[in-house]
Amino acid sequence: MFKKILIANRGEIALRVIRTCREMGIKTVAVYSTADRDSLHVKFADEAVCIGKPQSAESYLNIAHLMAAAEITNADAVHPGYGFLAENPKFAQICNDHGIKFIGPTPDMINSMGDKITAKETMIKAGVPVVPGGEGLLQSVDEAKSLAKNMGYPVIIKATAGGGGKGMRIVWEDTEMEKAYDTAKLEAAASFKNDGIYMEKYVEEPRHIEIQIAGDQYGTICHLSERDCSIQRRHQKLVEESPSPFMTDELRYKMGEAAKKAAGAINYESVGTVEFLVDKDRNFYFMEMNTRIQVEHCVTEEVINFDLIKEQIKIAMGDRISGADYIPMNHAIECRINAEDPYNDFRPSPGRITSLNQPGGHGVRVDSHVYAGYVIPPYYDSMIGKLITIAQTRQEAIQTMYRALSEYVIEGVKTTIPFHLQLMQDERFRSGDFNTKFLDRFELK
Ligand code: ADP
Repeated sequence: MFKKILIANRGEIALRVIRTCREMGIKTVAVYSTADRDSLHVKFADEAVCIGKPQSAESYLNIAHLMAAAEITNADAVHPGYGFLAENPKFAQICNDHGIKFIGPTPDMINSMGDKITAKETMIKAGVPVVPGGEGLLQSVDEAKSLAKNMGYPVIIKATAGGGGKGMRIVWEDTEMEKAYDTAKLEAAASFKNDGIYMEKYVEEPRHIEIQIAGDQYGTICHLSERDCSIQRRHQKLVEESPSPFMTDELRYKMGEAAKKAAGAINYESVGTVEFLVDKDRNFYFMEMNTRIQVEHCVTEEVINFDLIKEQIKIAMGDRISGADYIPMNHAIECRINAEDPYNDFRPSPGRITSLNQPGGHGVRVDSHVYAGYVIPPYYDSMIGKLITIAQTRQEAIQTMYRALSEYVIEGVKTTIPFHLQLMQDERFRSGDFNTKFLDRFELK
């Protein structure tokens, strides 16, 4: 049993982990940059250690500072949350080398899924369907052109080290290739310090459906059903739900089996997510695997009544899982409430929250680290929190979401609430008829 967990993260996910640790009787250590001194995760943890300046490289990404904090507080495990060092095999290795358990998979497992090309190759060998595409990194524009000709346009160029929707370019015809190739390579180098790019067939108007899985240290793997994350802006998720309105029992069974096969191929341990694209004929293709807890894990927790962070901690302690799969019992939707101005190209809007009223009532969950007077720093992502609603049917979950959004008052900064309010009233969204291109045609009133 862990006695003390250091949370190498900030904001809502740090708070989320602290809450579960409290319930499990495990002490917590928060770390914070000087910009986060007044954050709730700092106040709610049993201990807190300042690890440096606001810039992530000086604090939340600084492995030496984090290890020093873990050692002086005598933490016996580290929870990485999502983002920052959550998928950094070097960090996982250093934790384990210091006798501090990294709550997540082994460095080898992170490595094998971290690079998308390697991950795809592993999946092909395991017999999991992948998005058709040229295997291996692109070496030149000419190679890209001839590959695309063989495959048939449209194609998409992606960064092998990619994340957060960055470094992707859709190419519709030969004449666009040169520019797309160059910009994708530059963006990949700037964002990930790795300019490796590859090409795959662009699946037109697909759904993004991912399967939550869990595996223990003894080779047992189960799936915990799907999340539909098709409501995206510039390849970034804004709304997630479970079950997917597009799901059938047969498709869930097939995707669940494929996800377990994917995780099994690397003997995966911990919780993780296998992401797929699903076309209109319900063909599905492996895209990538996230070897960490995800932002949208809450919708799964609510439809199967399960604490995924607790499960993650128990697996890291060596507990066994039963191996039974989980099927949604009701419907949950999550809206990401960001400090962004939806009327101004979703431009970040950091600053002080002057007044706040968080929604509540039946079927409402709010995961957030903010309070009235809190200052959203400009250094990190702009998430204020996640609003999740739970009901027996999708229609009711949407109604509850609309009601909860109407109660949500956040003054002092711009937020994505007006966008979500309009989305919840949109006929196409309400009918479940949407895909990853949905927001391209969505006009904010
Ligand atoms: P990241 O790791 O940067 O989030 P992903 O590989 O998960 O990148 O892709 C993010 C999103 O980009 C997907 O949800 C989807 O909307 C779009 N996308 C990625 N690959 C393709 C593809 N081959 N065809 C169509 N859309 C794609």
